[in-house]
Amino acid sequence: MREVINVVWLRRDLRLYDNAAVYYALKSGKPILPIFIFDKNILDDLEEKTDRRVEFIHQQVSELQDQLVKMGSSLEVFYNTPLEVFKKLQKDYTIEKVFTNADYEQYALDRDHAVRELLKENGISFHVYKDQVIFDGREVLKDNKTPYTVFTPYSKKWKSILNGFYLKSYPSEKCYNNFYKQTRRDMPSLGSMGFNAGDAQFPPSNVQEELLAHYAQTRDYPGEHGTSRLGLHLRFGTISIRQLATKAKQLSEVYLNELIWRDFYHSILWHFPHVRKGEAFKKEYDFINWRNNEKDFAKWCSGSTGYPIVDAGMRELNTTGYMHNRVRMITASFLTKHLLIDWRWGESYFAKKLLDFDYAANNGGWQWSAGCGCDAAPYFRIFNPAIQSQKFDKNRKYILRWVPEVDSTGYPAPMVKHEEARERALRVYKEALKQ
Ligand code: FAD
Repeated sequence: MREVINVVWLRRDLRLYDNAAVYYALKSGKPILPIFIFDKNILDDLEEKTDRRVEFIHQQVSELQDQLVKMGSSLEVFYNTPLEVFKKLQKDYTIEKVFTNADYEQYALDRDHAVRELLKENGISFHVYKDQVIFDGREVLKDNKTPYTVFTPYSKKWKSILNGFYLKSYPSEKCYNNFYKQTRRDMPSLGSMGFNAGDAQFPPSNVQEELLAHYAQTRDYPGEHGTSRLGLHLRFGTISIRQLATKAKQLSEVYLNELIWRDFYHSILWHFPHVRKGEAFKKEYDFINWRNNEKDFAKWCSGSTGYPIVDAGMRELNTTGYMHNRVRMITASFLTKHLLIDWRWGESYFAKKLLDFDYAANNGGWQWSAGCGCDAAPYFRIFNPAIQSQKFDKNRKYILRWVPEVDSTGYPAPMVKHEEARERALRVYKEALKQ
């Protein structure tokens, strides 16, 4: 008879330490086979075959493989659809339980439902844990058990229910001996999945305590290295949110608030399926008569709007896969208000380009900027790019880094006049909201 094993399926939680699903799997009393799936449904849809996120995942998965091989185990890595992988696994092994961490996006919810059903047919149970957030959508509710839609009261409740239990690490390392023993298994190369390996450098995953301690003073200045750059690691779970929040609690209330925004937007996704499906949180904003001019959109994408702070942001994004938060707000406001282009166009452009792309935070950020989100900036508050630059990039350090030709005759004139664009946006928004 074949040995009975359990499986732990890693997804956006690419670490073994302080990992809820890994911990509960290793405690389950059976040898644990760790798996990772390069999901064909996702990968085959990516336009860029040099997508650095795939390269990042590949690097991290290779590191996990090395760690597991040192323990006499091995990660099984697949390039296929999850359903096909689980069909194959059921043939190759006798499995009792599958453990994994929750993912709250629509595709992931549908995928997990399908996998759960498939496994159920063969009597295999599917166990899902919270790992990616401190509190999930069910945990921070108003006293009448309805969800918060405004950040400040949400964050107050979040802080009031936080205690050591929620920040405690899962000591998975104590049970590493329970990984299924086998020799190193081959992993698909990037090339075999149709991706090119580059020489991308990624920001480090270590928490810089000095930076966190000064975060409140430095975080708004895109020319400085004043934010943690941990978005990518939070996205793929290469750091533990519990360990990071513990540090934030000790060092910076302002930084902790940013992590609470992250939970907040996940909670919105959880409670409002129409947001998961791409609709405006405030439905009346779906009546806006967007101009959706493709030429204007192309200028915005390439960073040639004639507004230096907007262009700097877009060029930073295109070159590095990162954009500073302040500039994300400025560029998003410019697209939706100055150019009157549907926020979903910008949202999907960011989704393609951002290394730290996360549906909840990206959708939340875009809807906030367009005015249609929960607790969004009111639509009549329209960023003036020139004033934003004076305030947050006074010496033009950021602008000159990304738009060195800004003072030359080669640099384009502003594609729209600020005052005219502002008036037009106010008119069009007002019209839509009357309906
Ligand atoms: P830090 O300032 O060091 O913050 C630490 C962490 O807190 C971030 O890594 C992130 O996980 C979280 N965080 C910070 N601000 C926010 C916020 N407003 N909402 C939710 N979480 C936050 N963040 C993403 O992680 N992925 C996205 O796809 C994304 N798209 C955005 C799109 C727009 C239009 C806007 C306005 C914001 C978006 N943000 C997104 C939020 C924010 O800009 C980034 O989290 C931040 O710039 C990442 O850089 P950092 O790691 O240095 O952040």
